[in-house]
Amino acid sequence: MANVDFINTPIEYLKGVGPQKADILHKEFNVYTFRDLLFYLPYRHVDKSKIYRICDINSDSAYIQIKGRIISHEVVGQQRGKRLVAKFADDTGVIELVWFNSLRWVEDLVSQRREFIVFGKPTQFNNRWNITHPEMIDPQAQTNSPIPLSFQPLYNTSDKAKKKGLDSKAISKLIYTLLSQPQLSIPETLPDSIINSVRLISLKDAIYNIHYPSSGELLTRAILRLKFDELFFTQLKMLKIKLITSQKIKGYRFDKVGDYFNTFYKEHLPFELTGAQKRVIKEIRADVGSGRQMNRLLQGDVGSGKTITALLVMLIAKDNDYQSCLMAPTEILATQHYENISRLLAGMNMRVEFLSGSTKTAKRKEILEGLQNGDVDILIGTHALIEDNVIFNKLGLVVIDEQHRFGVEQRAKLWRKSSTAPHVLVMTATPIPRTLAMTLYGDLDLSIINELPKGRKPIITRHLTERNRLQLIGFMRREIAAGRQIFVVYPLIEESEKMDLQNLMHGYEMFLHDFPRPQYQVSVVHGRMKSEDKDAEMQRFIRNDTQILLSTTVIEVGIDVPNATVMVIENSERFGLSQLHQLRGRVGRGGEQSYCILMSGDKLSNDSKLRIEAMVRTTDGFEIANTDLKLRGPGDIQGLRQSGMMDFKIADIVKDEKIVAYTRQLAKRVLEEDPNLSLPQNRPMAAHLAEMLKGEKFWGLIS
Ligand code: ADP
Ligand code: MG
Repeated sequence: MANVDFINTPIEYLKGVGPQKADILHKEFNVYTFRDLLFYLPYRHVDKSKIYRICDINSDSAYIQIKGRIISHEVVGQQRGKRLVAKFADDTGVIELVWFNSLRWVEDLVSQRREFIVFGKPTQFNNRWNITHPEMIDPQAQTNSPIPLSFQPLYNTSDKAKKKGLDSKAISKLIYTLLSQPQLSIPETLPDSIINSVRLISLKDAIYNIHYPSSGELLTRAILRLKFDELFFTQLKMLKIKLITSQKIKGYRFDKVGDYFNTFYKEHLPFELTGAQKRVIKEIRADVGSGRQMNRLLQGDVGSGKTITALLVMLIAKDNDYQSCLMAPTEILATQHYENISRLLAGMNMRVEFLSGSTKTAKRKEILEGLQNGDVDILIGTHALIEDNVIFNKLGLVVIDEQHRFGVEQRAKLWRKSSTAPHVLVMTATPIPRTLAMTLYGDLDLSIINELPKGRKPIITRHLTERNRLQLIGFMRREIAAGRQIFVVYPLIEESEKMDLQNLMHGYEMFLHDFPRPQYQVSVVHGRMKSEDKDAEMQRFIRNDTQILLSTTVIEVGIDVPNATVMVIENSERFGLSQLHQLRGRVGRGGEQSYCILMSGDKLSNDSKLRIEAMVRTTDGFEIANTDLKLRGPGDIQGLRQSGMMDFKIADIVKDEKIVAYTRQLAKRVLEEDPNLSLPQNRPMAAHLAEMLKGEKFWGLIS
């Protein structure tokens, strides 16, 4: 009776799903087929296999069941405060049950003085335990229930869905209906060899047990199996894309290292490259010379010198008659890249241009012409570079700076810019731990600059509170007297933007008072300023016309002012750890001793304390990233959430690090043995992979 196509039936055909519910299932849960519904996984299970005693309730009790009788009830309070309070007792004590609405219906129910199983989360109020809006279960009904109730699955739902009757319980009922269909067959995705060697349960058993576990142990194994699938197929997909890219996508061959590179290296490079920079350039050279398209992630802590490394690769492109572009996430950062690179290339007979949303029409026209006829060698700018009207003559290399938001698909968009895909170098300063990098950028090769330029003194980090402000001011004056410059950064989050701006402006007045003109010059920059004004203020600081730059986090993204030696972070307790680290990386770029001062209030939450302690303890970006991951989980790492690359249903790439590593190795081995997955035992995997890749726009480009 089992039917292999049954699982792809549209959800409308499930008993209990009318057009309205189908609509909600589509829109709210992205559930279109039976398969989608089966993979709509519960976020948690409630253990209904145990009955608790009232005397055992304590502040750790989560959702629990107790069995007993109502001994009294009354309606108390007026209007909005009106509620029904019932006393519920077992042999060991009494607890209050509280309802705020549907009082008439509840009163009918609790008037029955029979035995109930009460289910809910106890909280303490006025020294008494109570459960608000408990579920009242008839013990008789429970034993007769067709649905096994020992672990109740809880599903995410929404207000809209609830209004149409699709609460967690209704969803679980639909799934139960579906799982009871005799035609249902859940095809296995993994070959027996893997299932046996890893000791996994079948996908079918996993699906049944994730929704309706027959035991705690099977629930655990179901979770493991589903995590395994999710991570394994992610890796398989990434590696497969990488394989196809390297086989099918031809790249430009940069086989010369010529005059531009050599002249620059010998005559213009202002310093000796670090060993790590040299190694990375070699890695990249091998890539771009291979005839395959390069897709490489360049990771290096703030200040490790990624820009110059990228510039040298652009010179190799030029030596081979190709154009390059460099894209940065903000206008200020792009401008700074433009100025630095123009300065470095002075006298090299190369044309470098800058393009952003605010480039004036006439100038834009001139640049676009230069790009098309091949006069422009390097184009630097913001996202404006990937717009469709930007057409290159021969784009050979794309460098993307400080971007976590560039997934496979966005990269694919760049490829359309020419018939042959340009080489892509993505630079990031967020030190992503290896497992995370492997998962997020599994289709990229990885180069790491793990060394800072020589002569850098480790930044000294101190934590001060308001009581030490005078000390801070004295210190700042001494640094300025020694010719140095200072960043002061204030937090800014959207939700409290107004107040945050007030804080910044208040701080500005305070600093003007402590650092009066004309002896001192203080600049202020924030997101609400017009971008011309913002740029002008930034430029004043970059030129050393002002000694102190007060700003919200706009400077986070990478401006380079080697003469700045002090980074003061106000309300540092409100910043995330990786943000703090990025900010600190703005100083310590020259040869002078640099400092990072973390200002905070006296009272700190536990997490804030741990973040600040980590900052004071270490300047190692990888240690910081690991601490950050532990404190926050991966979803919060800056930019990763938006990337859409973290959308795992059940796996957690931090906690499940071991499974990530294991599945990565396994996927590699599988593809090495059978790159096209054409062996009979690998066909189920191939089918599943094809299913996954079907929806990818990227796929259309290469298949
Ligand atoms: P990031 O990797 O954070 O983007 P940058 O490329 O902005 O770092 O480089 C930081 C600073 O270090 C710049 O002022 C740059 O000129 C300088 N720099 C880069 N490489 C070296 C080196 N090998 N020796 C000395 N200074 C260097
Ligand atoms: Mg940079």
